[in-house]
Amino acid sequence: MSADEQLPHWDVIGRGLIGHCPRCGGGGLFVSPLDIREDCPSCGLHFEREEGYWLGSVTVIVFVVLVVFAVVSVGGIMAFWPDVPWVGVTVAGIVVNAAVPVLGYGWAKTAWLGINYGFHPPEAAEEADTIARHAARLVDPGPSGHPEDDAPR
Ligand SMILES: [Zn+2]
Repeated sequence: MSADEQLPHWDVIGRGLIGHCPRCGGGGLFVSPLDIREDCPSCGLHFEREEGYWLGSVTVIVFVVLVVFAVVSVGGIMAFWPDVPWVGVTVAGIVVNAAVPVLGYGWAKTAWLGINYGFHPPEAAEEADTIARHAARLVDPGPSGHPEDDAPR
Protein backbone atom coordinates (compact mmCIF):
# COMPACT_ATOMS: atom_id res chain seq x y z
CA MET A 1 0.00 0.00 0.00
CA SER A 2 1.42 3.35 -1.03
CA ALA A 3 1.03 6.53 1.00
CA ASP A 4 -1.61 7.67 -1.51
CA GLU A 5 -3.77 4.63 -0.73
CA GLN A 6 -3.81 5.21 3.04
CA LEU A 7 -7.06 6.44 4.50
CA PRO A 8 -8.33 8.91 5.43
CA HIS A 9 -7.22 11.56 2.95
CA TRP A 10 -7.16 14.60 5.24
CA ASP A 11 -6.60 17.04 2.37
CA VAL A 12 -9.81 15.81 0.73
CA ILE A 13 -11.74 16.11 4.01
CA GLY A 14 -10.33 19.60 4.53
CA ARG A 15 -11.49 20.73 1.08
CA GLY A 16 -15.04 19.69 1.94
CA LEU A 17 -14.92 21.37 5.34
CA ILE A 18 -14.04 24.73 3.73
CA GLY A 19 -16.81 24.37 1.13
CA HIS A 20 -14.71 23.26 -1.81
CA CYS A 21 -14.86 20.27 -4.16
CA PRO A 22 -13.23 17.20 -2.58
CA ARG A 23 -11.85 16.03 -5.94
CA CYS A 24 -10.22 19.18 -7.36
CA GLY A 25 -10.42 21.72 -4.52
CA GLY A 26 -12.35 24.15 -6.74
CA GLY A 27 -14.83 26.58 -5.26
CA GLY A 28 -18.08 28.05 -6.52
CA LEU A 29 -20.14 25.04 -5.40
CA PHE A 30 -22.92 27.01 -3.73
CA VAL A 31 -26.04 28.09 -5.64
CA SER A 32 -27.14 29.80 -2.41
CA PRO A 33 -25.91 29.66 1.19
CA LEU A 34 -28.41 26.87 1.68
CA ASP A 35 -27.56 24.51 -1.20
CA ILE A 36 -24.88 23.43 -3.67
CA ARG A 37 -24.74 22.64 -7.39
CA GLU A 38 -25.33 19.12 -8.69
CA ASP A 39 -21.84 18.96 -10.24
CA CYS A 40 -18.52 20.64 -9.57
CA PRO A 41 -18.14 23.60 -11.97
CA SER A 42 -14.38 23.02 -12.09
CA CYS A 43 -13.97 19.27 -12.62
CA GLY A 44 -17.47 17.91 -13.34
CA LEU A 45 -17.68 15.69 -10.25
CA HIS A 46 -21.31 14.68 -9.74
CA PHE A 47 -21.88 15.18 -6.03
CA GLU A 48 -24.78 12.81 -5.34
CA ARG A 49 -22.99 9.48 -5.55
CA GLU A 50 -26.08 7.33 -5.01
CA GLU A 51 -29.72 7.58 -4.01
CA GLY A 52 -30.00 8.70 -0.39
CA TYR A 53 -26.47 10.07 -0.46
CA TRP A 54 -27.36 13.30 1.35
CA LEU A 55 -28.40 11.41 4.48
CA GLY A 56 -24.73 11.76 5.40
CA SER A 57 -25.00 15.55 5.26
CA VAL A 58 -28.05 15.37 7.53
CA THR A 59 -25.91 13.45 10.00
CA VAL A 60 -23.22 16.15 9.77
CA ILE A 61 -25.66 19.00 10.41
CA VAL A 62 -27.35 17.16 13.31
CA PHE A 63 -23.93 16.71 14.92
CA VAL A 64 -23.11 20.41 14.40
CA VAL A 65 -26.48 21.46 15.87
CA LEU A 66 -25.85 19.29 18.95
CA VAL A 67 -22.40 20.81 19.49
CA VAL A 68 -23.57 24.41 19.00
CA PHE A 69 -26.63 23.80 21.20
CA ALA A 70 -24.43 22.34 23.96
CA VAL A 71 -21.97 25.24 23.76
CA VAL A 72 -24.76 27.87 23.82
CA SER A 73 -26.72 26.17 26.61
CA VAL A 74 -23.86 25.16 28.88
CA GLY A 75 -21.95 28.35 28.08
CA GLY A 76 -24.99 30.48 28.89
CA ILE A 77 -25.59 28.67 32.16
CA MET A 78 -21.92 28.90 33.18
CA ALA A 79 -21.63 32.56 32.18
CA PHE A 80 -24.58 33.68 34.30
CA TRP A 81 -24.39 31.18 37.20
CA PRO A 82 -26.05 31.38 39.76
CA ASP A 83 -28.50 33.96 38.34
CA VAL A 84 -29.17 32.16 35.07
CA PRO A 85 -31.71 33.87 32.77
CA TRP A 86 -33.50 30.63 31.98
CA VAL A 87 -35.89 32.19 29.48
CA GLY A 88 -32.96 33.71 27.57
CA VAL A 89 -30.99 30.45 27.56
CA THR A 90 -34.08 28.58 26.38
CA VAL A 91 -34.78 31.08 23.59
CA ALA A 92 -31.13 30.94 22.49
CA GLY A 93 -31.36 27.14 22.39
CA ILE A 94 -34.52 27.27 20.29
CA VAL A 95 -32.95 29.77 17.88
CA VAL A 96 -29.86 27.55 17.51
CA ASN A 97 -31.99 24.48 16.81
CA ALA A 98 -34.06 26.35 14.21
CA ALA A 99 -31.38 28.40 12.45
CA VAL A 100 -28.28 26.19 12.31
CA PRO A 101 -29.87 23.32 10.31
CA VAL A 102 -31.21 25.74 7.70
CA LEU A 103 -28.23 28.07 7.41
CA GLY A 104 -25.65 25.31 7.62
CA TYR A 105 -27.15 22.72 5.31
CA GLY A 106 -25.21 23.79 2.19
CA TRP A 107 -21.97 23.64 4.16
CA ALA A 108 -23.01 20.27 5.65
CA LYS A 109 -23.25 18.92 2.10
CA THR A 110 -19.70 19.96 1.19
CA ALA A 111 -18.45 18.72 4.58
CA TRP A 112 -20.12 15.35 3.94
CA LEU A 113 -18.60 15.24 0.44
CA GLY A 114 -15.14 15.79 1.94
CA ILE A 115 -15.63 13.19 4.67
CA ASN A 116 -17.14 10.66 2.27
CA TYR A 117 -14.50 11.09 -0.44
CA GLY A 118 -11.76 11.19 2.20
CA PHE A 119 -12.74 7.75 3.48
CA HIS A 120 -14.22 6.33 0.27
CA PRO A 121 -12.34 7.63 -2.80
CA PRO A 122 -14.01 7.20 -6.19
CA GLU A 123 -13.44 3.96 -8.05
CA ALA A 124 -12.25 3.85 -11.67
CA ALA A 125 -15.78 3.83 -13.19
CA GLU A 126 -16.88 6.84 -11.12
CA GLU A 127 -13.68 8.69 -12.02
CA ALA A 128 -14.19 7.92 -15.74
CA ASP A 129 -17.77 9.26 -15.50
CA THR A 130 -16.48 12.49 -13.93
CA ILE A 131 -13.89 12.94 -16.68
CA ALA A 132 -16.52 12.29 -19.39
CA ARG A 133 -18.95 14.72 -17.74
CA HIS A 134 -16.28 17.42 -17.56
CA ALA A 135 -15.24 16.83 -21.19
CA ALA A 136 -18.88 17.13 -22.32
CA ARG A 137 -19.19 20.41 -20.42
CA LEU A 138 -16.07 21.78 -22.07
CA VAL A 139 -17.57 21.03 -25.49
CA ASP A 140 -21.01 22.49 -24.67
CA PRO A 141 -21.12 24.45 -21.42
CA GLY A 142 -24.60 25.89 -22.05
CA PRO A 143 -25.55 29.59 -21.92
CA SER A 144 -24.56 30.06 -18.27
CA GLY A 145 -21.59 27.72 -18.29
CA HIS A 146 -23.33 25.53 -15.70
CA PRO A 147 -25.69 22.97 -17.29
CA GLU A 148 -27.77 22.54 -14.13
CA ASP A 149 -28.46 26.31 -14.13
CA ASP A 150 -29.89 26.06 -17.64
CA ALA A 151 -32.16 23.10 -16.92
CA PRO A 152 -35.90 23.91 -16.75
CA ARG A 153 -37.21 24.11 -13.19
ZN1 LIG B 1 -14.15 19.57 -8.59
